[in-house]
Amino acid sequence: MTRRVTDFIVVGSGIAGLMTALSLGKSGQVIVLTKAKEEQSNSYRAQGGIAAAVGEGDSPELHRQDTLRTGVDLCDPKSVDILVQMAPETIRLLTKWGTRFDREGDKWALGREGSHSVSRILHVSGDATGAGITSALLKQLSGHPQIELVTHTMVADLIVHEGACRGVITVDEGKGPVIYLARKGVVLATGGCGQIYRYTTNDLVSTGDGFAMAHRAGAALIDMEFVQFHPTALAVEQNPMVLVSEAVRGEGAVLVNEQGELFMARYHEWKDLAPRDVVSRAIYSEMQAGRRVYLDAQVIGSRFEERFPKIYRYCRMHGIDPAHDLIPVTPAAHFIMGGIQTDLFGRTTLPRLFACGEVACTGVHGANRLASNSLLEGAVFAQRVAAKLSSYADQSVDVPEPVYPSLCRDKQIEETWKKEIRQIMWDAAGIVRTSEGLLTGISRIKELQNQIPSGFIECHNMLITAQMIMNAALWRRESRGGHYRHDFPETIPEWSKKHNVI
Ligand SMILES: Cc1cc2nc3c(=O)[nH]c(=O)nc-3n(C[C@H](O)[C@H](O)[C@H](O)COP(=O)(O)OP(=O)(O)OC[C@H]3O[C@@H](n4cnc5c(N)ncnc54)[C@H](O)[C@@H]3O)c2cc1C
Repeated sequence: MTRRVTDFIVVGSGIAGLMTALSLGKSGQVIVLTKAKEEQSNSYRAQGGIAAAVGEGDSPELHRQDTLRTGVDLCDPKSVDILVQMAPETIRLLTKWGTRFDREGDKWALGREGSHSVSRILHVSGDATGAGITSALLKQLSGHPQIELVTHTMVADLIVHEGACRGVITVDEGKGPVIYLARKGVVLATGGCGQIYRYTTNDLVSTGDGFAMAHRAGAALIDMEFVQFHPTALAVEQNPMVLVSEAVRGEGAVLVNEQGELFMARYHEWKDLAPRDVVSRAIYSEMQAGRRVYLDAQVIGSRFEERFPKIYRYCRMHGIDPAHDLIPVTPAAHFIMGGIQTDLFGRTTLPRLFACGEVACTGVHGANRLASNSLLEGAVFAQRVAAKLSSYADQSVDVPEPVYPSLCRDKQIEETWKKEIRQIMWDAAGIVRTSEGLLTGISRIKELQNQIPSGFIECHNMLITAQMIMNAALWRRESRGGHYRHDFPETIPEWSKKHNVI
């Protein structure tokens, strides 16, 4: 098997992976491995923006309060402090590395999103924030003397030897497996797992690989029951679904049901800008009662095209003119708050393995993520991961050859399995959960684990991630943030001290 040795290995080319690589680039050789094209990530798809207290009348303290409140008593206050305090300097760093945030005259143009008490969302080209940031970072990275980006290369597993992570094993189309070994350590920045749900805004690459690999390697995961469902995906069946950013409601658009009722007033005092879980469940209830739901953005009128060019284009592709028509919307799996347990420097419980971005659980999101805090989390904690990891002494990379099953490549069969997993998860561990539904889901996932050949690596990663989410959801017998149990609908104060560690 081919072996390559470097100082640092970073898995993933979203904001977390790119920022980590650039921050490590001054300390040694970095190899970034990513399973598709370099820009294929949820980071690239991000629309609304990135939160930071940079506006007049705003402060890290206000940002902190909004984050903690939205996380429903489950955030780690120390992580949140780091996030909000480092946010303004992180915006300066992103700007230095080429991101051109939108401006209004000599000030930042700041948008408003749900649960934020003030306007604090920086954005790029209106609703193309993720593309703006990741393209700038990729440009910084290209030609960097210390960083090599290897695309279309899937990391299949971590290599653990004598109690530490030494590297990774990859598989890719056409070539055999390759072993990459790291003198300092490995950073997982593989993003989320939305693809395990039937309806999702997440990119096709988001199959939960990082969670599954960390679990197989023996690292701890935490808070996996907390999945965020975005209230407003465009209600057109496609995978991934098109997101209609919360910033659209921030600009005054409102939700209406097919009877023309502004129904959010019945569900929350903050109406259309209530926390995401509340809005998602409200829409779900309306739909369960047989009423379709729409976003009425006519108040934005002809400004829509300029402010939200990307969403506008997608709507037009489906024959909807947001300036005059109602936009049909539906909730979809969007983000996972739980993940690989890390400390304040991204260290996991497995020595020499770090995690950063959506795959990590730093504790900043608690039971529910505040809008636009996830790009920020990736960018902030990447700097801390790099600072810690670069101080490590070299480890031995003399490891025995790992055994690995050969990859199954039948895309059609793979797609059939994936569809089945997605439907099980949507039914059993979606917006509203019950113990009966979860138990059924868990037993169906077990059956599939026995049925699907081990060479379908992504399917097995999806199954492991699904199992962790459902077991954690079954364990938490209350409702909190993104986790709603129909059989335990109350938020119970004692559960705010409890975390499910896998
Ligand atoms: C449509 C959409 C809009 C969003 N809008 C916003 C927003 O406005 N603001 C905000 O803060 N957040 C937003 N989010 C959430 C946010 O985009 C993500 O949480 C964040 O970008 C995650 O960054 P990441 O670097 O951790 O992961 P990602 O950006 O998802 O990157 C993961 C990378 O890992 C790679 N990878 C995965 N598995 C493997 C493997 N086995 N081997 C090799 N490579 C692998 C992928 O190919 C990818 O390059 C949005 C999400 C979506 C889906």
